[in-house]
Amino acid sequence: MTITDLENKYPKRNLPDGAEVVRVSPSPTGFVHLGLLYMAIICQRVAESTKGIFILRIEDTDTAREVKGAKESIVNMLAKFNIKYDEGLKSDTQVGNYGPYVQSERKEIYDVCIDYLLSVGRAYRCFMTLEELDTLRAWQTENKIRPGVYGEYAKYRDKEGSGPYVIRFLSRGNEHTKFKFYDEIIGDMEVPENDEDFVLRKGDGLPTYHLAHVVDDHLMRTTFVLRGNEWWASLGKHIEIWQAFGWDIPKYGHLMSINKTDDGGVRKLSKRKDPEADVQHFLNQGYMPEAIIAYLLRLINPSFDDWMKDKIKNDEKINTSNFPFNIKELSRGGRGPLLDIPKLDNISSEFFSYLYPEELYELILIWSEKHDIEFKNILEKNKEYAINIFSIERKTKKNNKEKIRKDINKLADMRQQYYYFFDELYEKEKMNRQLDQNYPFSTSIARELKEKIKDMDMSSIDLWLAQMKEFAVYLGYDKFANFMRDFRLALTLEEKTPNLYDVILVMGMERVMSRL
Ligand code: GLU
Repeated sequence: MTITDLENKYPKRNLPDGAEVVRVSPSPTGFVHLGLLYMAIICQRVAESTKGIFILRIEDTDTAREVKGAKESIVNMLAKFNIKYDEGLKSDTQVGNYGPYVQSERKEIYDVCIDYLLSVGRAYRCFMTLEELDTLRAWQTENKIRPGVYGEYAKYRDKEGSGPYVIRFLSRGNEHTKFKFYDEIIGDMEVPENDEDFVLRKGDGLPTYHLAHVVDDHLMRTTFVLRGNEWWASLGKHIEIWQAFGWDIPKYGHLMSINKTDDGGVRKLSKRKDPEADVQHFLNQGYMPEAIIAYLLRLINPSFDDWMKDKIKNDEKINTSNFPFNIKELSRGGRGPLLDIPKLDNISSEFFSYLYPEELYELILIWSEKHDIEFKNILEKNKEYAINIFSIERKTKKNNKEKIRKDINKLADMRQQYYYFFDELYEKEKMNRQLDQNYPFSTSIARELKEKIKDMDMSSIDLWLAQMKEFAVYLGYDKFANFMRDFRLALTLEEKTPNLYDVILVMGMERVMSRL
């Protein structure tokens, strides 16, 4: 097989003008990183908005770092977030005519391309042992020489050796020469030429990222390489490989990584240190995928904020697929987007506010099954009551409430928001807080309150409030708000709750009496 055979097998795609072929190409080396989701959203939008193609390619040539099950997690996670791609690895198969889409299955293809480079003198076998390389590096460092295999240090450029070998690229670059390069995200830049004879094929017979990237993106007919900016420094290498093959170079866009604040400073989200780097972390807390997508879109395009505000103002549901994504708006230069959990919470609470009580009930049931079994059992035992609770200040199928309470940011908040409705949880919390010591009413007032409340006319909130006001005056409260604060505390242990009229209607008078 030759490169021409490969090019015939994977021909130029017949796509409308301007259509971009993009790909995400994660390595299955651990959990699904938030940055992958971020990049996948960008690729999906670029492909969609140009009527192009979006590919998922799995880069598993680093066998030592591969983690079992990581490929599957990537596929499942993208599905969970409704990120659809046209080609690549799907849950039980690979889809598309430009595969295989898993690099470990493309060995033959890489070998054909490497043979070509060997035949034209742009690659060679290098027999240097690891020890030899270490010695060279140490000597170079000691003598203040840039470490690496290049120029005069590329020992096997012109000679054969024996024993195990790797295939190195034969560079013709000059590190002092710079070339102009336009990056779609970073803009105009000057990049130093590569002069290193870097490895193309490792001792295990698999290619390095450098070779696989160029070969795959050529044969998959990628038009726009969107990738993390940690690869910017390797661009010189990649350009030299493209040129050695004589292939057209696609557009590149290097994306800034997501940052977080730490100790007053700002740093890149760390796979090792930060639980928030793991997408699963957000799902475990019960953020809805749609809300996470919305939040990431906001990191991608800050104008998402105004777009969303507009929707809220006009009482429209936020449907992120309608957001007019603009690649030009991606954070350029400077630093990358900053992860900001309060903002995520704020966006997320919008999405929770769209749910009907029944939908919320289903979601919390599924979530608590894994994360809070006690809460789940209580909810299951009290289904109707729970749905009534969730109906307070929430739109229901019967009525469209004007004022919707936006106090659920994630499912993990719900127990804390609603526990006091359930006697077991209320009692437990009361014990924890030793509330008896600061129960707001004296025994005699509580007794009077019970008497009074029991017979109040609750046919409307205004009527009820009027009676409560009267009673507050009778008890000697200067301010009605103070009386209500105490009453709320006695009833719910909380200082903030939905409006008490609704709470009482849902709790039922019997429960109110027992609390008082
Ligand atoms: N496998 C590479 C990574 O995970 C992908 C880089 C690229 O998109 O080309 O960083």
